[in-house]
Amino acid sequence: SDRLLGGFRKTSDRLSDNLAGVVGTAKLDDATLDEVEDALIVSDLGPAAAARIRDRLAEKRFGLSITERELKEAVAEEIAAILRPVAVPLEVTAFPRPQVILVIGVNGSGKTTTIAKLGHWLQEDDYGVMLAAGDTFRAAAIGQLKVWADRIGAPIVTGPERGDPASVVFDAVKTATDTGIDALVVDTAGRLQNKRELMDELAKIRKVLGRLNPEAPHDVVLVLDATNGQNALSQIEIFKEVAGVTGLIMTKLDGTARGGVLVAAAEQYGLPIHAIGVGEQLDDLRPFDPDLVARVIA
Ligand code: GDP
Repeated sequence: SDRLLGGFRKTSDRLSDNLAGVVGTAKLDDATLDEVEDALIVSDLGPAAAARIRDRLAEKRFGLSITERELKEAVAEEIAAILRPVAVPLEVTAFPRPQVILVIGVNGSGKTTTIAKLGHWLQEDDYGVMLAAGDTFRAAAIGQLKVWADRIGAPIVTGPERGDPASVVFDAVKTATDTGIDALVVDTAGRLQNKRELMDELAKIRKVLGRLNPEAPHDVVLVLDATNGQNALSQIEIFKEVAGVTGLIMTKLDGTARGGVLVAAAEQYGLPIHAIGVGEQLDDLRPFDPDLVARVIA
C-alpha cells in the first residue's frame, strides 16, 4: 500500500491543494462550502458527488469551526462513504465451472495488461485460469495476449485473425470445462468507433455462451483508464448499453490521473469497482480499498 500511495498521491494533489486554500475563515459557512464543492468538481468527482459531500458536511458541521486538517478528514470520510458500497471484489463462485469473465474496454485502456494481472491474481488464489483471445480484430491483440498467457503460465485459446470471436469463446468454454478450469478470462474487441458492430459481436458471444451455460458470462468487467478523467464516465455510459457491464477496474492510477473520477463513477453508476491498476507489472493490480483511496484523493 506504500507503493500505491507513493504513486497514487500525485493524483490527489489537486484536491488537496484546492481544499488547502479553502479554510481561511474559522467557521464552516456557505462561502466555504461553495469552495469545497468547486474543489471537488475541479478534481473530477462530478457535480452529483460534490453536491452530496457538500450537503453532508453542512449537515454535520455547518457553523462550527473547522481546521484545514479536519476539513480534509471530513471530505475523505464522505468520499469513503460513497466508495464503500461499490468496493466489491471479483469472486470465483460459478457452479458449474468455469466462471466466464468478459473483459471489455477501449484500446489503450490497459485491457490486455489487466487480463494478465487478473489471471495472475486468481492463480495466486489457487484458481485454474485460462485466457481467451476474443479480440480477433487486431492481430497484435492476439499476439500480446499470448505473450502474457505464457508469462503467467496459463493456457490460452485463440482463433485466426479476423475470425469469429464467438467461435473462439465457444472453443474456450468447452476446453475450460473439459480441463477443469475455474476462471476463463475473455478478451474482447474495444472498438467503440463502430458501436453497432461491437454490439452485434458481443450479442453473438452472449448467445453462444448462453447455450453452453445460461449463467455465462458471469462477469462483464469494464477496464477504464483513469488518466481519461471525465471520458471514463462516458465510456461507462456507452459500454453499459452495449455490453451490460457488471463491474469496473480502473487502471493507471499510478500516473498523473486524479482518482476523483472513481468517486464520480461510484456516485453516478453504482457499479462494483473490483480492483485498481497501479502499474505495468503483473502484481500491480490492487484490491479496491475505499478508505485508502479516499484518503489519497482528499
Ligand atoms: P489495451 O490496448 O487496452 O489492451 O491496453 P494494454 O494492456 O496494451 O495497455 C496499454 C498501455 O498501458 C501499456 O503500455 C501498459 O503497460 C499500460 N498500462 C496498463 N495498465 C497500467 C497501469 O495500471 N498503470 C500504468 N502506468 N500503465 C498501465
